Amino acid sequence: MAYRFTPMTIEPDDEMHNLKITFISLIVVFTAFFGGVRMAAALDIKTMRFGQHGDSSRVVLELSAEADFRATIQDSPARIVLDLPAISGQPVIQRKTLPPLIKDVRLEPLSNNYSRLSFITEQPAIIRSSFLMPAEGESPARLVLDINPASQEAFGRQMGRSFGTLTIASDAKNIPFAGIGGPRLDIISKPKNPDAPDVPAPTIAETLPLIVIDAGHGGVDGGATGSGINEKDITLAIARDLRTALKATGKYRVELTRDTDKFIRLEERVHIARRLRANLFISIHADSMPGGTSSAKGASFYTLSNRASDRESAALAARENRADLLAGVELPTDDKDLAGIMIDLTTRETMRESRHLAGEMVASFKADGLDMPNGPKRSAGFVVLKAPDIPSILIETGFLSNPEEVKKLADNRYRETISAAIAKGVDAWFTARATP
Ligand code: ZN
Repeated sequence: MAYRFTPMTIEPDDEMHNLKITFISLIVVFTAFFGGVRMAAALDIKTMRFGQHGDSSRVVLELSAEADFRATIQDSPARIVLDLPAISGQPVIQRKTLPPLIKDVRLEPLSNNYSRLSFITEQPAIIRSSFLMPAEGESPARLVLDINPASQEAFGRQMGRSFGTLTIASDAKNIPFAGIGGPRLDIISKPKNPDAPDVPAPTIAETLPLIVIDAGHGGVDGGATGSGINEKDITLAIARDLRTALKATGKYRVELTRDTDKFIRLEERVHIARRLRANLFISIHADSMPGGTSSAKGASFYTLSNRASDRESAALAARENRADLLAGVELPTDDKDLAGIMIDLTTRETMRESRHLAGEMVASFKADGLDMPNGPKRSAGFVVLKAPDIPSILIETGFLSNPEEVKKLADNRYRETISAAIAKGVDAWFTARATP
């Protein structure tokens, strides 16, 4: 089969842009009608944007519909390859210059049913994260790729791994890179004239990673209690302290799921993080051993799993997941639902990242001499950790059932110490991701 290359154009004009979209949409409808069975929805790339923060380059594709994708790295030449259901028409590129890391972008059909976007890089680069944001109100579905320059070793380590959930029929496998050896098939190249006017790059503030902190419980749901202290008040106080600590680094944007004493459904907390396109979700809690006071103390770090790491974790997740019932909301999730997302590749990658974060947290708490029970890295099926594309962690900061620890948790300075340790864990995690 012969593959035809679709040239991409740089579109400087908004009015032209809209015209083009309309035209593309017509083509897409036509293609969808006569296209393959996989084309449940017509797909086109409305715009392609690039951002830069430090070493990291971000590619944002605004899509006409949510779509499965597969992102991989390939060599000769080093490139990031993004496979999608067949794209019709020409993506409109908003920024005239590519980020320093990207040399070229090419679009080629893989078969009738799939298209391949290749981002040829100036040096070996790896995928740091890739995720799809569903359409939300005015915002179209967005596919985001964060890529970083990498050593040859790190590049080699990521080779063969794929991100995303798209599975491609055998007819489209092992397609060689057609752009090499053949005629020059640039779709977009860096402008020859460096003084060419350019659409402004996203500001630093827009490209800083966003961390959503979730203060557990709230409103009618007080959470656990101990010595007259409500979990919901402790979690909010720590969430605020953590926000302060993270903002003080100047490296992150921070949002809270709640900054007042109000009830929020568990799934809504996840929804907030996804709507804001969070890079990280941290849910703050404080545990209480059932059956009155106990000597259990210290912080534990939970990540999502459909199989709890132990019976205590399973019981804890069951207690935390019951929060919605207090406001008369039916529990929205069962184990089958959770098991369903477990097979998702994106989720698997997210879970791996989340476990890595839990490891950084434990290291940070250890370094600061803070209390932790045995085996502080745990997992269970917490509803608030369900975002398939956002690394998420739930921190049980201490035990309200321990009178000594309640006293500490009620103390500003102790909460600030805990928040500082969490912030250090977050920082270590982001640093590790950025420097593979
Ligand atoms: Zn809780």
